Amino acid sequence: MKKFGVIGPGAVGSVIAESLLQHGLQVHLLGRNAGEVRIERKGQLAESTLLVEELSRFETTLDYIFITVKGTQLSAVLPFVEKLSHENTVTIICQNGYGQLEQITMPHTYQAVVYISGQKKDQTITHFRDRKLILPENEDTIALHQLVEGSDLDIQISPHYLHDIWFKLLVNLGINSVTALSRNTAIVVTNEKVRNLCESLIKEGMTIAHAEGIHFEKSTVQAIMDIYDGYPPHMGTSMYYDQLNRNPMEIDYIQGFLYRKSQKHHLDTPHVDTVYSLLVASEIR
Ligand code: NDP
Repeated sequence: MKKFGVIGPGAVGSVIAESLLQHGLQVHLLGRNAGEVRIERKGQLAESTLLVEELSRFETTLDYIFITVKGTQLSAVLPFVEKLSHENTVTIICQNGYGQLEQITMPHTYQAVVYISGQKKDQTITHFRDRKLILPENEDTIALHQLVEGSDLDIQISPHYLHDIWFKLLVNLGINSVTALSRNTAIVVTNEKVRNLCESLIKEGMTIAHAEGIHFEKSTVQAIMDIYDGYPPHMGTSMYYDQLNRNPMEIDYIQGFLYRKSQKHHLDTPHVDTVYSLLVASEIR
């Protein structure tokens, strides 16, 4: 039987591990410390409790590894991923942003576009909605898809994978920047000036995507603004919570990734450049 590991018992990782376990697969949820996490769903009585094993003491070689720590925590877990892998281990990075793969030399490593919404507080995860991972199409991801088929983890193999990952990047670019910098929730998009800033960011992001060979229709700006308008006004983004709690933000793989691509192509992206600089500035302690 194939052995699965999920590294990072947080919101995304716990929900993935729960789905795989309920499907009867052999799954190890690996964290900084051994213990338990509980998954709750608003309005539902059923909760699950998952066992967490300590990553640094774990010795079993794994066939599939889902990395579900934040982008800022990736480099710390990579040595363990290498240690627990064999030559055909398939590793799926489940994180927002893009560019993570540029620093990884292990073969069979792919990044998922993550649509799982949840939040971890202490050892409790509140799972709000969705259990979807979008992956590029290749032999490894097709085999993984077959293994989890019938589970409630919705693994989609997309022929438009790059478009999908850039779309999520553009969604994160606008809302994460304005919520983190204003230290306010999604209510900020009710303000016209903030809407204009979001639209400018998305347009510049689309220009950067275009330079990278990924094309979006002009209507994408409105489509993303519609997504923002659907957020509950008091919903915070993960970058907003990280900013409030003075935790490192995932700037490097979202605004930083786009900034570096813009520089590489000599593009004029003043809004992206400015929010990136201000986010970096806000982390100088
Ligand atoms: P969480 O902070 O909830 O989970 C990360 C987990 O990784 C935590 O349990 C953390 O432990 C653990 N961890 C950190 N460092 C290590 C380490 N060195 N060894 C072992 N475990 C470690 O993050 P999320 O699940 O929210 O986010 C994961 C990724 O998914 C991010 O890139 C995020 O942007 C993306 N994403 C999140 C969504 C969401 O709704 N939450 C939606 C879509 C994408 P500890 O608790 O001890 O710090």
